[in-house]
Amino acid sequence: MPTGPKLDAAAIATNMAEIHPPLSPAAAVVAAHRCLFCFDAPCIRACPTGIDIPSFIRKITTDNLAGAGRTILSANILGASCARVCPTAVLCEGACVLHSRGESPVEIGRLQRHATDYVFERQLQVLPSAATATGFRVAVLGGGPAGLGCAAELAQLGHGVTVFEKRPHAGGLNTHGIAYYKMKPDVSLAEVEMVAGLGVEFRRGVEVGRDIPMANLERDFAALFLGFGLGGGRRLGIPGENLPGVVEAVDWIEQLHTRPLDTVAVGESVAVIGGGNTALDAVNQARRLGARQVVVIYRRGVDDLPAYDFERQLALQGGAEFLFYTTPVAILADAAGAVSGIRLAATRALRTGDPELDRNTAQVMAVDMVIKAVGQEKPGAILRQLLPDLALNPDGTVRHDATTGQTNLPRVFTGGDCANGGREVVNAVAEGKRAARSIHALLTGKAVTGPVQSSRAGVTGNPWGAGFDQPIRVAPVARKHSSKEDAHGGPVR
Ligand SMILES: Cc1cc2nc3c(=O)[nH]c(=O)nc-3n(C[C@H](O)[C@H](O)[C@H](O)COP(=O)(O)OP(=O)(O)OC[C@H]3O[C@@H](n4cnc5c(N)ncnc54)[C@H](O)[C@@H]3O)c2cc1C
Ligand code: SF4
Repeated sequence: MPTGPKLDAAAIATNMAEIHPPLSPAAAVVAAHRCLFCFDAPCIRACPTGIDIPSFIRKITTDNLAGAGRTILSANILGASCARVCPTAVLCEGACVLHSRGESPVEIGRLQRHATDYVFERQLQVLPSAATATGFRVAVLGGGPAGLGCAAELAQLGHGVTVFEKRPHAGGLNTHGIAYYKMKPDVSLAEVEMVAGLGVEFRRGVEVGRDIPMANLERDFAALFLGFGLGGGRRLGIPGENLPGVVEAVDWIEQLHTRPLDTVAVGESVAVIGGGNTALDAVNQARRLGARQVVVIYRRGVDDLPAYDFERQLALQGGAEFLFYTTPVAILADAAGAVSGIRLAATRALRTGDPELDRNTAQVMAVDMVIKAVGQEKPGAILRQLLPDLALNPDGTVRHDATTGQTNLPRVFTGGDCANGGREVVNAVAEGKRAARSIHALLTGKAVTGPVQSSRAGVTGNPWGAGFDQPIRVAPVARKHSSKEDAHGGPVR
């Protein structure tokens, strides 16, 4: 393994400080007053959960922070996390009309944080309990953002909900995968407690299929929601991949969330394989832990990078280097078995757009750590065991109706990464919430009508927001994803 931490705890704490610190109360009011409170607000439609953004911003201008928090959390139960982790430049802020005037957008993310921090710091109960219990019980399998979005909505609609989560903590990747300088795990864990406060039962440390048979859940619950997320990291399939200094990005990032930061081993010279957001999160965190050199190895060109442009800019500002049209062919070890280098070969783009390897160009780069970030496995294999009759897509994601989240098994619904193949926290919450409303309609015969909260923005027909695949207006810094790879480095579904 790499020799160990490169910096002491104080230096790491400074480096890992939040990149978007909170607004002061005075700055929040100034920022809120920049909003035009648009009638047909494009920012709402660009938010997958359909938060009534002008409404909560208006409440901030009148110092009604609890009301602003209620507006946010009633649409998006993970509104505090999303304020920190959402790619706002390509969602709400990317759609803000102020771009049309050549101005910077309203700071929606930071204003959302301002309001939700107020609620969480005071432990305010801003969401009402369900008026009447329906008597139905629903099992939510997986306690990540999709499961939490589903569970919170079901509980507010009066259903009994049990979340089965295999880890000791719920929150999924939102608790143990987000880059440390964007959000600390405490924010996600506080949101889990808010969901529990709505009456949701959590059975943590219970792995479905191992600790409880699927047949029992099908027997005991009126409906099931599958929110298992994705599996482990994909393999490179090259010699040296199992050396001790070679780590999976998601596993390594998890260490940052479960151990003191000054005990997490990082190399002096680190190669990160992949060009998605997860790869760049790993790059930025390796530099902040003290790695002297971090090089991104990506087999396509700069314009193909699936990561958001603002993530690439952050990596460049942090001193990362990029090697494009390059791919690893072997990881090398020294006499003691430690990683000593990586053999690289050039690639060239074929007419199909796929990269072709040119082995004659091999060169060796000296590194003492390799972080693999080439996407996560789809959950097909485990799902085939758990629910043999469940229909899957060819790539191993769960086949489902996009407007309801319903699978081919009428009482089984899904959402989040295991269904969409890997998007963002806000997509997972929105899909969980949408499935909850469909489950409610199935069990009670009643549709949830009207917007999530009153809005002047014409979202009555689609209360959870449109969640455009492409934002309707994109800030100049944003760039589109490659047609070949998703935002976290995996091939497009
Ligand atoms: C490294 C990394 C960084 C990211 N950064 C961002 C970011 O900055 N912003 C952003 O918006 N998105 C980010 N994402 C994406 C985001 O985290 C995911 O889209 C989101 O967490 C998906 O939610 P989910 O509930 O579908 O899955 P997950 O978050 O993966 O949750 C699934 C849950 O199911 C549990 N589970 C699995 N199998 C079982 C079982 N058999 N029994 C019981 N429980 C089970 C898991 O333990 C887990 O808690 C990032 C992703 C990665 C990998
Ligand atoms: S688009 Fe911008 S200005 Fe208009 S309501 Fe939304 S945040 Fe305010």
